[in-house]
Amino acid sequence: MKYLIRLAAGAVFALTVTVALADDSKGPPKPVANKLVTVQHGALPVILSAPHGGTEDVPGVKPRKGEGLPTGGNGFFAGRDGNTEELAAAISEAIEKTMGKKPYLVAAKFHRKFIDANRPPEIAYEDKAAKPTYDAYRDQLAAYCREVKKQHGSGLLLDVHGQGAMKDTVIRGTKDGKTVSLLTSRFGSQAHTGPKSFFGLLATNGCKVFPANLTDTEYATLNGGNIVQTYGSGDYGVDAIQLEFGGDFRDKGKLKATAEKVAASVKSYADLYLQK
Ligand SMILES: [Zn+2]
Repeated sequence: MKYLIRLAAGAVFALTVTVALADDSKGPPKPVANKLVTVQHGALPVILSAPHGGTEDVPGVKPRKGEGLPTGGNGFFAGRDGNTEELAAAISEAIEKTMGKKPYLVAAKFHRKFIDANRPPEIAYEDKAAKPTYDAYRDQLAAYCREVKKQHGSGLLLDVHGQGAMKDTVIRGTKDGKTVSLLTSRFGSQAHTGPKSFFGLLATNGCKVFPANLTDTEYATLNGGNIVQTYGSGDYGVDAIQLEFGGDFRDKGKLKATAEKVAASVKSYADLYLQK
């Protein structure tokens, strides 16, 4: 906010006042509704996120160029993860059917070429006009994580993505266990790398997974982005896993079957590790 103070002598002083949006005494900023972000309040300690599946333009915002930005793993990339917006919605429906309650959901309707919600702001967008939409996604996700921690003591955030490296496989991204360290501190390493870990359960439910033996190092460029690193096992008090689905799981005709396998895994995981 900028105020101009004009003195009698005619001198003009510009005074900049910074408005504290995240004053600790008042709590974190309240998410602002945005028509380019799908949000669903939940009743389970399970949060779904899908930042890369959107198809819509962001009015008044030009596509990002990525000039001077790093590329690769956690750098600049503007391509969409096809059908992941639809897949996240299908997973939500399947979880509700299996567990009787809705999970939380935050999904991008906006195309990644305008905003990448799985990156820090300096890589996520290039036009100030994109900031409110980026903030709407991230503030909502943060608010849901805080609510889940408060109401359930722990929770699971699943960040839904698509990859083109292994068509028939779901790739795990936890920064080699860092984003699920709350889980492993409570239940031991088997909760991350054993047959009853989330990816162990996915395999039992018929998904080919990577790392196949659950213990090897994760796929270097797909091992967990900014969302799971930000919300997983830190101050937000939930564990977070990035799910990178190969194309075979995201074909239109396969979405329902994929969602049912994920939902069955979520149910088993919740029975083992979460308080409902
Ligand atoms: Zn992605």
